[in-house]
Amino acid sequence: MQNKDESRTSLLSDASKRLERALKYVKISSDAIARLQHPKTSLSVSIPVRMDDGSLKVFSGYRVRYDDTRGAGKGGVRYHPHVSLDEVQSLAFWMTFKCALLDLPFGGAKGGITVDPKELSKAELERLSRGYVDAIADAIGIDTDILAPDVYTNATIMGWMMDQYSIIQRKLCRGVVTGKHLSLGGSKGRDTATAMGAFTVIQTMLHKIKLIPQNTTVAVQGFGNAGSTLAGLLDKAGYKVVAVSDSKGGIYAPQGLDIASIRKHKNQSREMKAVYCHDTVCSIVEHEVITNQELLALDVDVLIPAALENQITQNNAADIKAKYIFEVANGPINSDADRILAEKDVYVFPDILVNAGGVTVSYFEWVQNRSGWYWTLEEINQRLQEKMQIEAQQTWKIAQDLTIDIRTAAYVHALNRLGEALDAKGTREQFVHN
Ligand code: NAD
Repeated sequence: MQNKDESRTSLLSDASKRLERALKYVKISSDAIARLQHPKTSLSVSIPVRMDDGSLKVFSGYRVRYDDTRGAGKGGVRYHPHVSLDEVQSLAFWMTFKCALLDLPFGGAKGGITVDPKELSKAELERLSRGYVDAIADAIGIDTDILAPDVYTNATIMGWMMDQYSIIQRKLCRGVVTGKHLSLGGSKGRDTATAMGAFTVIQTMLHKIKLIPQNTTVAVQGFGNAGSTLAGLLDKAGYKVVAVSDSKGGIYAPQGLDIASIRKHKNQSREMKAVYCHDTVCSIVEHEVITNQELLALDVDVLIPAALENQITQNNAADIKAKYIFEVANGPINSDADRILAEKDVYVFPDILVNAGGVTVSYFEWVQNRSGWYWTLEEINQRLQEKMQIEAQQTWKIAQDLTIDIRTAAYVHALNRLGEALDAKGTREQFVHN
């Protein structure tokens, strides 16, 4: 794995490499391209926090609104020791393309605080979260920029942030933050949205790539919220999920794993074991213990990276044997690996499409908060599936029509929408001819 500094630098440069590749296939003005090369606003703030021992600590925080031509900024807030302005800018750039690809009326944004949240008490974490909102309050709002959870932030933190913003505004502002607890105006289905969206993309593409679930082997890297839920959905639909892993390593059983049992065991013990559970009794089934690198190189039909960025690079892309990769994590493959995988005829379905279910249900939450009309889980899932199917099919069609890879097609699709909106504000030609 690359070290954190290398991976941060390559995030931004990889983002722009993929944009450049797609620009060849779109008809948008040079004005629009120029605008998309710069974030609209980048805010750096200092957040003083009174710690439990009475001392004062000052944390660095960021909020970037990359582009808001198609709607208010939308993006998560990340708490991590390696958060930097550079990283937040590139994540906001990706959000801009993801929201355009899914045709959500949002632009792209992102935020973060440079902190290891595991070192803070609950009360310190609350003061930090509220302090962050105090510091960025003028830059966010229901029609300006909407926050959401990301790495190491959760529904509780989103609730504090929404509450703090409401205190500042002197009125309840539920729609300024998504990913809240249900009792504070969260949406049904938000917790499973990313996995459900990814599952819909896989099911939609199955007919195109002519796979049959019962004959399809799958390996999933990352057994967290997105990866474990998706593995469960695939198992239930008849796919043979043969390997899963977490940060400590993986398990492999060529005959297939019982995902529901593994999830149950992991929830109870925090340990990942190849088990089969009958009621409360779980027994270990035949399996091999493998490393994450071995999981990535397994001879399976479908590989699903659902953990971290930069997992498949020029160093290990040649080892990949899967024919199809669905990126659930953000940025799990770098652009050097893109080239190697393309030479091996691997189909890569990109993150901005595959993991967009999360932001799509965040959009539904924002709509519900604004209207005060709350939807059933069936309504949420049906609307999510419709959206994911339409945009997955459109992306596939662009790839076929232009004979380009699916990642580039996704960027082309998003760029067409972004370009249209940016050009509607006026292009050089309009001003010259008037
Ligand atoms: P999570 O924290 O719930 O799970 C992450 C999992 O990855 C954990 O099981 C962890 O043990 C595992 N992991 C960590 N390091 C690993 C390593 N080196 N090798 C293998 N596994 C490792 O996170 P999540 O919400 O499931 O998110 C996973 C990825 O999906 C992230 O890249 C995130 O940005 C992306 N994503 C998530 C959502 C969402 O709604 N959850 C939406 C869009 C994108």
